[in-house]
Amino acid sequence: MKVLKFGGTSVGSVESMSSVKQIVESCHEPVIVVVSALGGITDRLIETARVAVEGGDGYESHFRAIVERHKAMVANAVAPQKQTELLALIDPLLGELGNIFKGVSLIKDLSTKTLDTIVSYGERLSSLIVSRVVDGAAHYDARFFIKTRRQYGKHIVDFEETNKLVKRYFAELPRVAVVPGFIASDRVTGDVTNLGRGGSDYTASILATALGASQLEIWTDVDGFMTADPRVINTAYVIERLSFTEAMELCNFGAKVIYPPTIYPVFHKNIPILIKNTFNPSAPGTLISADHSHIEGKAIKGISSINDTCLITLSGMGMVGVIGINSRIFKRLAESGISVFLVSQASSENNTTFAVRNADADLAVRVLRDEFKEEIAVGEISGIEAEKELATVAIVGENMKHTPGIAGRLFNVLGRNGINVIACAQGASETNISFVIARNSLRKALNVIHDSFFLSESQVLNLFVAGVGTVGRDLLKQICKQQQRLLETKALQLRLVGIANSRKCLFDREGIDIEHCIELLDREGTPASPQKIKEEIIAMNIFNSVFVDCTASPDIAALYQSLLDHNVSVVASNKIAASGSYDSYRALKQTARKRDVKYLFETNVGAGLPIINTINNLINSGDKILKIEAVVSGTLNYIFNVVSAEVPLSQAVRMAQEAGYSEPDPRVDLCGQDVIRKLVILAREAGYRVEQSDVKKNLFIPESYFTGTLDDFWRAIPDYDATFEVYRRQVADRGRVLRFVATLDHGAVEVGLREVDSAHPFYHLEGSNNVILLTTERYREYPMVIKGYGAGAEVTAAGVFADIIGIANIR
Ligand code: ADP
Ligand code: ASP
Ligand code: MG
Repeated sequence: MKVLKFGGTSVGSVESMSSVKQIVESCHEPVIVVVSALGGITDRLIETARVAVEGGDGYESHFRAIVERHKAMVANAVAPQKQTELLALIDPLLGELGNIFKGVSLIKDLSTKTLDTIVSYGERLSSLIVSRVVDGAAHYDARFFIKTRRQYGKHIVDFEETNKLVKRYFAELPRVAVVPGFIASDRVTGDVTNLGRGGSDYTASILATALGASQLEIWTDVDGFMTADPRVINTAYVIERLSFTEAMELCNFGAKVIYPPTIYPVFHKNIPILIKNTFNPSAPGTLISADHSHIEGKAIKGISSINDTCLITLSGMGMVGVIGINSRIFKRLAESGISVFLVSQASSENNTTFAVRNADADLAVRVLRDEFKEEIAVGEISGIEAEKELATVAIVGENMKHTPGIAGRLFNVLGRNGINVIACAQGASETNISFVIARNSLRKALNVIHDSFFLSESQVLNLFVAGVGTVGRDLLKQICKQQQRLLETKALQLRLVGIANSRKCLFDREGIDIEHCIELLDREGTPASPQKIKEEIIAMNIFNSVFVDCTASPDIAALYQSLLDHNVSVVASNKIAASGSYDSYRALKQTARKRDVKYLFETNVGAGLPIINTINNLINSGDKILKIEAVVSGTLNYIFNVVSAEVPLSQAVRMAQEAGYSEPDPRVDLCGQDVIRKLVILAREAGYRVEQSDVKKNLFIPESYFTGTLDDFWRAIPDYDATFEVYRRQVADRGRVLRFVATLDHGAVEVGLREVDSAHPFYHLEGSNNVILLTTERYREYPMVIKGYGAGAEVTAAGVFADIIGIANIR
């Protein structure tokens, strides 16, 4: 025989009832069918009782809804010829229930006993209905054979009595027996009791064990036991097989799919559990058994968590080496009916920490302060403190046994995401590592573990993109085009979780459709400010997150420090931060290192050219940068390449601006500021402490042209054309060209115009190209040359993209 348990959703609708009917009727052996209350009814019963106890008739509408729900189920799920007989059983029950609610509202008292009675109606009603839905079924009342006794103020199953009674009641098995789950009765008083929320699973396990069933089937609303709670992790997937130990560890820590006490009885009798989906019966489900042959492959089978955690710590130098302290702690807690689900004590013994549910915390502290009042008075115990608002996470897998490095990887990935582990415990069985973190980091922790480490098929990077001008737009286009390929070939998933321009911002932790993100931003975005962007990102507290700055805004650059402090990596084409004050540049780099995240800005110099990476690689491998000579202004290079007898300087500047090579205000390029920023960044990356004010400037347009407004500049600059033309012609007559060169020479920094002849590597430099010469200890006689497109949205976006991929650390 088999025991089949159907949960609340499985008996919650007419459609699911018909599925239950089919599943049960197609069994060829005798079955016991254990059912929960119709989905949501237990909650409704409790809620109605809470309204009733307030007094008055406010509860009536709630009660009416409960009545309607059951009546509708009878009318729609039960064959018409059986309805009258069934209603003759159900109506009196509903009548009784109504009277109890009325009594509660009149007396304004709701004892535990009354509430236990009230909730029992859920299963009593549902089991009657199911027994008339399934053909040939006999109905049993679990209160007659599931017996409880009191222990530390709680009802626990009295197995001796229960096993005896179950065997007696089912001495002869009908083909189908329908039994209400959850409910029981007190062995001594006969009062109705229950096995705790979710307890129908336990009823089924008790019956399966007492009767030696061949299998226990738990029919629910998911395809099986999943790697994590699917409501929190959308990439969670069904685990085909679990050992009893793994299932027990996962359930105990909050995997709601099975009520924790369920596992032990069947484990003890070696009866396998099959988890199946009532809504998708053909899915294979999850088999939980003693068979270990499947235990191979992934070290971690699943993750589960309890977000209701309070840590209590007893500390004191006087505890060191004293025998019996822990025994007193746990004895006193047990006597107070408090369950402890995690314990941690360092070998120094000067504190013991344990986790309880928040509801038990105050009582726990009170009884322990009482227990240890003498030790507290003399200072042997210095404190008993409770820390609330925490969550406990467990990672589980039998394969962790004897596999070094799991805990290391776990804590490393948590640390990199800024999740602080407050306490941890790993039993010597090595099948479970549990740790406690702040409650508001729970979602992030579960995702980060599930994703970057054990279970998911791919690694996710969560991107926030600020700035959707030319570079940002091209970046999004490139990501959109490459996304699928990265997923297929590198198992890297790029997810856009936030996007902003100077006016609007849009966030969605599930991901924004990249192809249409700019329209979405326009349509659905809310007003943006740098402060808001920062707050949203920090509040989202999302794992593996990267802030991508494609703006030129100092206010956005000012966010990097806080973001890095919150373990958000930063990729910037914006050069303001890296070229700002040396101390803040250092602080950003140090924070990134300390937090184990990345601050990357390869595109700050030479767009997509690999300059900063190259400098870093040289230095890291022991080389020393002696000198850098660089033409790093695509704009100025373009201007010097087009200026001629026919094209005066002012016109060349205008052309650069119109072609999109220069900044919107070309003076930023002409006054050398852009080159100075780039030089400062290069010098710093080469290991020199340099500020913008250290850079010597030899400009080619007098400072006076830069003082007024942009309009003043456009008006005045043609006046300078003739002077410049004289100079240009002299240079040309000497067979040379003009280049605006940035130089770092043993720490000294300088920008200015230089004449170069045809033998110089800077002579042939077309369009807006950049060139960088690196003279190092190793590349002394023949400097290293890096040359190519140094401006343009497409190559800059590609450089930003490469930095993003660099964070994922894939090749
Ligand atoms: P039932 O009413 O059938 O007893 P429950 O709601 O008690 O169903 O349990 C099933 C639910 O448990 C699923 O719908 C799912 O949301 C949740 N759940 C939490 N953790 C897990 C997990 N690891 N695997 C599967 N489901 C889980
Ligand atoms: N109906 C009870 C509850 O909701 C028992 C169960 O469904 O297992 O907790
Ligand atoms: Mg359940």
